[in-house]
Amino acid sequence: FVVYKKVSKSFGDLKVLREIDFSVYPGEKVAIIGPSGSGKTTLIRLLMTLEEPTSGVIEIDGVPLWHKEVKGKLIKADEKHLHKMRGQIGMVFQQFNLFPHMTVLRNCTEAQVKVLGVNRKDAEDRAKEMLEKVGLGTKLDNYPSQLSGGQQQRVAIARALVMRPKVMLFDEPTSALDPELVGEVLDVIREIAAEGDMAMILVTHEMEFAKDVADRIVFTDGGKIIEEGSPKEVFENPKSERLQSFLRRMR
Ligand code: ATP
Repeated sequence: FVVYKKVSKSFGDLKVLREIDFSVYPGEKVAIIGPSGSGKTTLIRLLMTLEEPTSGVIEIDGVPLWHKEVKGKLIKADEKHLHKMRGQIGMVFQQFNLFPHMTVLRNCTEAQVKVLGVNRKDAEDRAKEMLEKVGLGTKLDNYPSQLSGGQQQRVAIARALVMRPKVMLFDEPTSALDPELVGEVLDVIREIAAEGDMAMILVTHEMEFAKDVADRIVFTDGGKIIEEGSPKEVFENPKSERLQSFLRRMR
């Protein structure tokens, strides 16, 4: 239900993505792996509406994300359309991007009230439930600066979950963490993945983790999808030389 059709992205002369065709099914968990600079982050930043494609179309449930259909023609979407589409997407970044001046509970409540129009009481109940799920039920009144990086990232995950997104995007969610804090964040993501119905796209350098949670692994290099398949296919029987050498380097 997330579909990329011949999507390209350049920054000036640098072609970061080259005519990518890519789709994700409802509930599917997809991990994107590949060397540094291969365009992984850019691929999901386009879906996060943080970067605009140079060409091509991205759709969610058949509705173009960056374009609007007017009289059978696609024109550039306005901010209102992007805002509406963004409501279906949950995002978790490398840097946790919490609101520093709000408590943990408020961080997970504000958008429900302001964007979804949920009343504050219900928003808080939902926030508490999700914070409980990520193991932070006792930190509701703390501020982000009082938490470890791993805890902050778990708040960021809860903050995305409260919005009931159709798809959750994780951009290297553990790469800014001290090594001893990586496990707790991966465990939470694993747990959410196991619950099932929400689609997930993860950009990650954690190969073992990708193998565990993903239904499908997508390997990018040089702005293209070089190979994709089940974790078993990709990790145990890589076909292309590029993937083989990438996996050797990651071991
Ligand atoms: P990494 O694993 O290191 O994060 P990546 O595969 O996620 O790498 P991207 O972050 O998508 O790669 O970046 C791909 C290329 O695009 C890099 O060469 C990067 O320097 C360049 N790039 C990314 N964003 C911009 C930008 N806003 N302006 C100019 N160049 C950019």
